[in-house]
Amino acid sequence: MDRFEYFKDIAESAKVLGDGWDKILEAALIMHGHLCGAMPLGFRVGRLALKVLGAEREPNMSKVVFVETGVFHAAGCFADGVQFATGCTYGKDLIKKLDYGKWAATLALKKDGKAVRVSVKPEVVEAMFSSKFMSERKRGIPPAEVKPEFILEGFKKTISRPDEEILEVSKIFTYNFPPTPKPSFSAVRCEICGEMVAENKLRIKEGKKVCLPCSGYEV
Ligand SMILES: [Zn+2]
Ligand SMILES: [Zn+2]
Repeated sequence: MDRFEYFKDIAESAKVLGDGWDKILEAALIMHGHLCGAMPLGFRVGRLALKVLGAEREPNMSKVVFVETGVFHAAGCFADGVQFATGCTYGKDLIKKLDYGKWAATLALKKDGKAVRVSVKPEVVEAMFSSKFMSERKRGIPPAEVKPEFILEGFKKTISRPDEEILEVSKIFTYNFPPTPKPSFSAVRCEICGEMVAENKLRIKEGKKVCLPCSGYEV
C-alpha cells in the first residue's frame, strides 16, 4: 500500500464524526505527512470549536484561529490539525501561533467576534507524552520512521473518541479584532529586479517603485 492509500485507509476512522470529516482528515494526513499524537488532537480541537460556534469549516476569510502550541517542543504538530479542521490556513493568514507550549486553540468569527477556546484535557496530553511513539521520538527516530504499530491505534482512537472525553470547552466570549488594512488587488513590476510585487508592499527608492528586498529598507 502506498502512502496515499495508507492515509486514505486511516482517514476512514473519521467517518464516525460524520459530515465528510474523513475527507478532511485524509487531506490533513497528506499535508502533514505522518501519523503522530498531536496532529489528531488539534484536528479534534478545531472541529469542536467550529461545532460550538455553529460555524462551517472556513472556505473564505471569515474567521481566525489562535493556536497556543508554539515552537521547540515535541508536539507542535497540533497546529496542523487545527489548521486543517478549521480551514483557517496559513496562506489565508487565518492562523496565528501563540508561543505558550499549550494544546489549545481559540476560534473567533470576524462578523461578530464570537469566540471559543478549546483545550485538550491534561490526562490526554500526559498519555500522549508517555506513549511508545513519543519515547521513540525522544530516541531521535523521525515521526514517519516510527513503527506504525506504536501509533496507529492511538491515532484512530484520538480521532473517534467522544469530544467530552478528551476536550474542554470555554464559555463563548467576544474577541475584539484589531483593525486590519484592506487587501490589495493589484500587482506591479519592481523597477529594479523586474519581479511582480503586490502594490501595497512597494517602496519608492530614488524615484523608482521597487520591492522591499530591492529597497534596502527593513521589513
Ligand atoms: Zn506530526
Ligand atoms: Zn525588486
